Amino acid sequence: MGLFSKEACTFCGTEVGALKRSKLATKEFICNECKRKTNYFARMSYTSRDAARHMMDTLAQEAADFEASFDTAEGRFAKAERSFNTWDLGSKRIHYRSNTTIGAFQLNMSEMSRYEVNPVFWFDTMIPYEFKGEGDDFFSETHRSKFMDAAANHVEVDVTKGDDGKVIHCMITIPYDDACIREIKIESDTDDAAPFYDLADRINSDRRAWLGKAEFDAERKNRMQVRNLGDTAAAALKAAVSGGDATEAVKKGIDMANDIEEGKVKQSFWGKLFKK
Ligand SMILES: [Zn+2]
Repeated sequence: MGLFSKEACTFCGTEVGALKRSKLATKEFICNECKRKTNYFARMSYTSRDAARHMMDTLAQEAADFEASFDTAEGRFAKAERSFNTWDLGSKRIHYRSNTTIGAFQLNMSEMSRYEVNPVFWFDTMIPYEFKGEGDDFFSETHRSKFMDAAANHVEVDVTKGDDGKVIHCMITIPYDDACIREIKIESDTDDAAPFYDLADRINSDRRAWLGKAEFDAERKNRMQVRNLGDTAAAALKAAVSGGDATEAVKKGIDMANDIEEGKVKQSFWGKLFKK
């Protein structure tokens, strides 16, 4: 198995040489053509065959859903967020946009153009990578406390200076708690660190904006659920007392609870719940 021996891609079966393939974490080979259907920032040496397949199956839909999220999000801010903003980081030009209502963002740069999908990243995953064993819960308390930490600036900039004290190299690191990605690093030889800090600030503050909205939303949903519980109990009691069907009242309460979770319910000024 030398440099010139060919190996079959585990997905498409094409026999490719060492320069046109990567080895997956699960030891199969993936050809460059198939790799371009995965996430540009995924490292194949971290990626299992199943994880690569999952990316191929889901990235395009996720990107389409992200695009559509700008249509469905309420308010003029959501519309303003749709367009990419551009940062010149030394020799690299980065385009970035986020939807702070759903808590996701996209990056784009010319190096990614050969990949089929511009992938979507999530603020609730933008925390330092931690190895997870089988059965470790994404919603574990430690994970939650990290992504709910409003004070944290997870995106960082590293600046390298030359002997004369002048900046010669900058790198922005976006941590990512995903088995295949772990972190997004963008670096460049440059004497200007300002745009790196500016982009890092922007991503950190967008994450905080999402967190503020998400907390508000969770609190609001909790209040509505408590009210629904009270309304349902009262309706069931009333039905039971008047000889009616209490199970119907309970069923309505459960439907309402599900609709609250899905954001289909609004609360009036007086606390009454209405389906949108
Ligand atoms: Zn292939």
